[in-house]
Amino acid sequence: MTSVTAPATLYVVATPIGNLGDFSPRAREVLDTVDAILVEDTRQSGVLLRHAGIARPMLAVHEHNEGERAQALVQRLREGQRLALISDAGTPLISDPGYRLVAAVRAAGFAVSPIPGACALIAALSVSGLPTDRFSFEGFLPARAGERLTRLEAVAADTRTLIYYEAPHRIADTLAAAVQAFGADRRAVIGRELTKRFETVLDGSLAELQARVLADADQQRGEIVLIIAGAPAQDDAARIAEGKRLYALLVEEMPPSRAAKVAAAYTGAPKRALYGG
Ligand code: SAM
Repeated sequence: MTSVTAPATLYVVATPIGNLGDFSPRAREVLDTVDAILVEDTRQSGVLLRHAGIARPMLAVHEHNEGERAQALVQRLREGQRLALISDAGTPLISDPGYRLVAAVRAAGFAVSPIPGACALIAALSVSGLPTDRFSFEGFLPARAGERLTRLEAVAADTRTLIYYEAPHRIADTLAAAVQAFGADRRAVIGRELTKRFETVLDGSLAELQARVLADADQQRGEIVLIIAGAPAQDDAARIAEGKRLYALLVEEMPPSRAAKVAAAYTGAPKRALYGG
């Protein structure tokens, strides 16, 4: 652990995702003592920092200037300064700027230390009741309908729990696309306005959630995390049986080694288990 007063350190500090009670004492201490706070938007962060009684200098670092600012910020660290990076809400770098800066600071050999806290995807996952042992954070889906469907279809067979950030005006269309890609019965959870006054966590099949969202305009407001259950895992025996059936069809049309390769890739069965009937 890097101490909260170590020199020449970049702290990556999580801030609340809505409820100011989630602003940790360590986050406040670091922000109150650094030489500068790197923010996405000075107005937005100004509100939070003023509320917390923190009056350190702010510097805007956002996706459009992060690359060019990085070297100047590394120079500040060389001079022994302590910096803190925050985003508008939650954990910086998670669907937020900061990745290029952290990479540049680490490459220059300076310490980067996390001050963890709220993160919408983890908050939603933790109350979803869906498996948490393996999950894939998929970020925001593309806004265009065709690209969105392609992106969803690409993970339709993924057995991990899938997590998306979604804009409220797109949630109904995204649920319709998800029904198309994953099937109406796939389980899902919508975590909306988490930690805030109108917090709601809805669960059901994708078709049920789609109907619920269409019937209630309130469900198309606020900030949303959509979590979709992974595809049911087939056990090895089922995979091998399916692979053998496919191999038997393909081997009529192509050499056995190629048929086994294609059948193995398609079903997930080990290739060697498919030879010899
Ligand atoms: N860095 C943030 C984090 O740690 O979660 C995420 C930033 S991303 C630009 C903003 C998206 O996060 C929102 O569009 C929404 O999908 C999700 N989000 C943020 N706060 C939320 C909340 N209180 N409830 C539900 N989703 C939230």
